[in-house]
Amino acid sequence: MQRLATICVGNPEDVPKVRSRLIELGLWLNELGGSSMSAFEVSGVSGRINVQDIREIPGISEVLTQRDITPLLSKLSGKPVRLMESCTLGSDLPPVLFAGPCSVESEGMLDEIGAAVATAGGKFLRGGAYKPRTSPYSFHGVGEKGLHWLRAVAEKYKLGVVTEVLSEDDVAVVGAYADLIQVGSRNMQNFALLKKVGALGKSVLLKRGMASNLEEWKLGAEHLLFDGAKDVVFCERGIRGFTETTRNLLDLQAVADLSLAQGFPVMVDPSHASGRRDLILPMTMASLASGAHAIMVEVHPCPAKAKSDGPQALGLSELVELGAAMGCLSS
Ligand code: PEP
Ligand code: MN
Repeated sequence: MQRLATICVGNPEDVPKVRSRLIELGLWLNELGGSSMSAFEVSGVSGRINVQDIREIPGISEVLTQRDITPLLSKLSGKPVRLMESCTLGSDLPPVLFAGPCSVESEGMLDEIGAAVATAGGKFLRGGAYKPRTSPYSFHGVGEKGLHWLRAVAEKYKLGVVTEVLSEDDVAVVGAYADLIQVGSRNMQNFALLKKVGALGKSVLLKRGMASNLEEWKLGAEHLLFDGAKDVVFCERGIRGFTETTRNLLDLQAVADLSLAQGFPVMVDPSHASGRRDLILPMTMASLASGAHAIMVEVHPCPAKAKSDGPQALGLSELVELGAAMGCLSS
């Protein structure tokens, strides 16, 4: 699918017929040239146009499209992404809830959380066993045993596992435990890591770099697909802003553009976007209204005692309220 095309009409007498047909196809037109006008620039109202439909209009001599810099990703446009038997992301499907702790701390806390995720109607358990931390003095995760606990708890509550891989050295072990491999914001353009993750042939959750534009983000996804990833789900987690009242700025326009206009699978992480548990519910609703297919949130049985990101973690009952607000409880 292309977003813009230039259409040349061979004979100026055909211009009125071509114009009406383009309007019938629901396209926005910009008529190029002067009185001898015989070209149009068109764009889809929803951001997408079907070039084949245009080529079939009698009188058109040429259709020039933008060069597609993400050909593998473009092929996935409009297609639902099946992550597990019970979990598919797509535009006509109910929104999906992913939840779990920021860091996996112990098997016991994960079990409490897994039960709450299932009660809330969530489909995936999240949690970091390997944690990227700004300070070298912060908690960096429990490592491989955390992956083992994630798998065991997810099996118990019939959930999928999404967890972050930080290092090229850990790609194989994370791939062995996770249903969806998370590449974090700080690694969105770590091309050596993307290459190894792609080669696993699994579905990948690609979080947006905190200062990356959409083209860079899509090219990160193209790297993963080029190297063999099965699917890529985009995760908007906020970009660097100037306000100190929230951790980041949630870019809902990027969500709407990638999801509604371009047809790609999009998740929103309002926890890392806002850094505040009181904003999770309103930002979830705004994200769903903007076309998000899934929401991923952090949760902890006792947020005040969390080893990382406590201020943004929901309590267990708040998670169930979020699941209810998203309409997940009965699905
Ligand atoms: C996370 O989801 O655990 C995380 C570290 O997020 P981000 O990469 O978006 O900062
Ligand atoms: Mn976190």
